Amino acid sequence: MPQQAETIINQWPLHAVDGGYEMVPFKVYTQRDLDKIEPLQKLSEAMRFEMKVVSSVLPFRVNQYVIDELIDWDNVPADPMFQLTFPQRGMLSAEHYDTIAKLIQDGADKATLAAAVNEVRQALNPHPADQMEMNMPLDDEGNRLDGMQHKYRETVLFFPSQGQTCHAYCTFCFRWAQFVGDKELRIAASEASTLHDYLKAHTEVTDLLFTGGDPMVMKTKHLAAYLEPLLEPEFDHIQTIRIGTKALTFWPHRFLGAEDAGELIDLLTRMVRAGKHVAVMGHYNHWKEMDTDAARAAIRAIRSTGAVIRAQGPLIAHINDDPDVWAKMWKMQVKLGIIPYYMFVERDTGARGYFEVPLERAWEIYREAMQQVSGLARTARGPSMSASPGKVEVQGVTEIKGEKVFVLRFIQGRNPDWIQRPFFAKYNPDATWLHHLEPAFGEEKFFFEDEYEAIRDERIDAAQT
Ligand code: SF4
Repeated sequence: MPQQAETIINQWPLHAVDGGYEMVPFKVYTQRDLDKIEPLQKLSEAMRFEMKVVSSVLPFRVNQYVIDELIDWDNVPADPMFQLTFPQRGMLSAEHYDTIAKLIQDGADKATLAAAVNEVRQALNPHPADQMEMNMPLDDEGNRLDGMQHKYRETVLFFPSQGQTCHAYCTFCFRWAQFVGDKELRIAASEASTLHDYLKAHTEVTDLLFTGGDPMVMKTKHLAAYLEPLLEPEFDHIQTIRIGTKALTFWPHRFLGAEDAGELIDLLTRMVRAGKHVAVMGHYNHWKEMDTDAARAAIRAIRSTGAVIRAQGPLIAHINDDPDVWAKMWKMQVKLGIIPYYMFVERDTGARGYFEVPLERAWEIYREAMQQVSGLARTARGPSMSASPGKVEVQGVTEIKGEKVFVLRFIQGRNPDWIQRPFFAKYNPDATWLHHLEPAFGEEKFFFEDEYEAIRDERIDAAQT
């Protein structure tokens, strides 16, 4: 079937996706369904119990496509796609794990278990980089506008309320707090008008990023309600619409045979033809994600709309901490017409202890991967930390006047003046995030710190009054 579908998509002028790819039913499994996932039955009971414990705290969701087409079950538990989607014991600290495991073993009542789970979640830094206090825009009266983040002058992030889930969940997700059912932890807007009013009033914004969750879980008609008004002249300043998604990995049928896939392809085409730059920001962690017929057909379907696909994703232990994996992934992306865009450093939240890679090693992996690819694949920036002051790239480790240092620079900053300014931190082989670093050369503070503190105080005061 995929062969036939690919042929049809290649011939496509505008509607060819309709009926072109056989409709594959979307079958999803969550924590309650662990026992129903057939290949898991081959694993030991102890391992299945561990999954149950970990998935009580961290979100778990997988679908039949991932189970059947992405995971190599002969290579479990090491298989990177298994690590990407299935909970592992090491994702919780020994203390947290033991607490929850004991409660489950002792048959604790629902309320006791829920209270313990909540305590563990709160200890896992559910909102890294001050997302709640620092990034939410305020209206004229100082009320927080839920569902939006406006961290950098030209870019607004929008979290459509219908898009706050994903077709499967990544075990390392830094937005995990949105999926565990705690309303306090959710960031979402329900009204397109909130977004449109804000954008009308902020003509400095050129880029709108739809994110989630995954906006591609939304029905096309909902996505259209957000996007189509942007074609009106009062939104001419919005030049670029980015849509962050992992559907190209977790559910490529969203662009092929899903019920409103044809409308989605038409919508993207209309946006492009009306002059918007539409960028599908594909979240990729491994070349295996592009190595199925459906994944490649979905990439072709999107590209045929005129939208571009840019690839980004974090560097993660157990999944892709290997330069060969990145080199192969970037080469494959270029071959498929995708632009490699970012290698991120895993954020300080959730199961970070399991996934983190020291900054020095991250830089080595980036460098060794870059050395294996041609110029067209060297568009990927990184390794980059999305920290509260801005996106900070590790440019390398070197020695200056006898002192070993990290060379860093802002790719993006709360103050645009910080961008592209190199700065230096003392070498620290264990550092995995910006806050582990101290200024080099005996300086007391990094150049941006005083200004950042002032911005932070101002935002937090505004949000609290
Ligand atoms: S696709 Fe993104 S938002 Fe969804 S689980 Fe993965 S990292 Fe989180």
